[in-house]
Amino acid sequence: MKSICVFCGSGKGSSPEYINAAQELGRLLVKENLDLVYGGARVGLMNEIANTVLEGGGKVTGVMPQYLVDKEVAHTGITKLHIVKDMHQRKAMLSELSDGFIAMPGGLGTLEEIFEALTWAQLGIHKKPCGFLNVNGFYDKLLDFLDHAVDQEFIKSDNRKLVMRDPSPENLLELMRNYIPPGVDKAKWILHIQ
Ligand code: AMP
Repeated sequence: MKSICVFCGSGKGSSPEYINAAQELGRLLVKENLDLVYGGARVGLMNEIANTVLEGGGKVTGVMPQYLVDKEVAHTGITKLHIVKDMHQRKAMLSELSDGFIAMPGGLGTLEEIFEALTWAQLGIHKKPCGFLNVNGFYDKLLDFLDHAVDQEFIKSDNRKLVMRDPSPENLLELMRNYIPPGVDKAKWILHIQ
């Protein structure tokens, strides 16, 4: 892996643990010589992780649609800021530029982005690892829900295995490095048969 896409909140969350985790992950990316790819904003956890990587001498690439740049939320100090037409182009480009995806705590935007990356992994559109940095147990209920969806036979247990998780950035990165993408049998996925 050469670059990691991090999806995270445009807010900072209720606890300093979230900011600390963004900084910790940023320092780890620099230490491991991994470039940061992210939404390109200068707000919330996104700003924390981008600044930490820059301060450590790492490379930060942002991708932002023009209308968010117009709202002046773009981080103008990053290594490279790609300005794209819309959110769809943004997600496609974030995906193209990265070798793996991490969701830090965040809101609807973060959830939508990581679930799209997981859906694309499920379909075999990419073979990149996807993980939740489960800081402070933030994602416990969501991960329990995914187990419920497996029990109810809406998520296949093989696809549930696409979802990696760990509260520690080091451990999560290790899991992602050891990720073996499943062989995708599209007919089985679409028909949902064994
Ligand atoms: P949220 O989790 O709802 O705070 O949204 C954060 C995610 O959605 C980030 O990974 C961004 O790609 C995108 N996003 C949402 N709000 C903004 C914003 N104000 N500026 C830039 N990106 C945003």
